[in-house]
Amino acid sequence: MSFTAVSEKIIEIKNVRKNFGKLEVLKGINLHVDKDEVVCIIGPSGSGKSTLLRCLNYLERITSGEITIHGELFDKRENDRDVHKLTASEVSAHCASLGMVFQRFNLFPHMTVLGNLIEAPMRVKHMDRAAAIALAENLLVKVGLADKRDEYPSRLSGGQQQRVAIARALAMQPQIMLFDEPTSALDPELVGEVLNVMKDLATEGMTMVVVTHEMSFARDVATRVVFMDKGEVVEQGPPQEIFTAPKNERTRMFLKKVL
Ligand code: ADP
Ligand code: MG
Repeated sequence: MSFTAVSEKIIEIKNVRKNFGKLEVLKGINLHVDKDEVVCIIGPSGSGKSTLLRCLNYLERITSGEITIHGELFDKRENDRDVHKLTASEVSAHCASLGMVFQRFNLFPHMTVLGNLIEAPMRVKHMDRAAAIALAENLLVKVGLADKRDEYPSRLSGGQQQRVAIARALAMQPQIMLFDEPTSALDPELVGEVLNVMKDLATEGMTMVVVTHEMSFARDVATRVVFMDKGEVVEQGPPQEIFTAPKNERTRMFLKKVL
């Protein structure tokens, strides 16, 4: 490893606020994600973790602040007004560079596993069918589901469906993967298979932002853990620091409850 290497900021969030009516859900978030990092976001329910991820994808618009992705200004707003606005094609290119996996698997129920994987690459990226199938088959091997290629989602377990959802996100060849509590809707015995797929991705150097309640995953895989509470980033640092010597009282209280 070179000591002169400069970390490359992939996501930069500056002073981001988000209101839903009078409710202020994000209260001035400052956060960055560097290339090859695995950032795990932890914190109590309702602290704004999902909202923050959704703002990175235009699923929600920020109220004010600035988001830069790959060094390019992606969103900049003041009082719900655009200071910088992307064109529709810029938004779609941007969203294609981010893969998102939700708590619920959101697979297309009327399509086979293969159909789910090739749909977006063909429609959005205009990949030809043979290439999309080849890519999908490789990804199914990677998530351990090569034998489920022609199955419909309803015939798969929750863990298998979530692994298909991960493969489907990867089929768009994103530069960053965002996960919003990908295992919290699963039966406990199915959690491990999904976490293992995510661990493999991290080992391969994928840049990831993972909202999770799986503290052992955060401890083992995160390069940085971010603790959010009540719309704020309260504390962040390497997992060994956050889990063994949290500096903030709110972090300590939260960890006491979940560890
Ligand atoms: P977390 O993911 O940390 O549990 P969320 O980002 O889902 O938190 O929610 C943060 C707060 O924002 C909660 O109080 C939630 O009720 C509120 N909220 C989230 N989405 C909406 C919405 N679309 N409209 C109004 N309030 C919302
Ligand atoms: Mg959430």
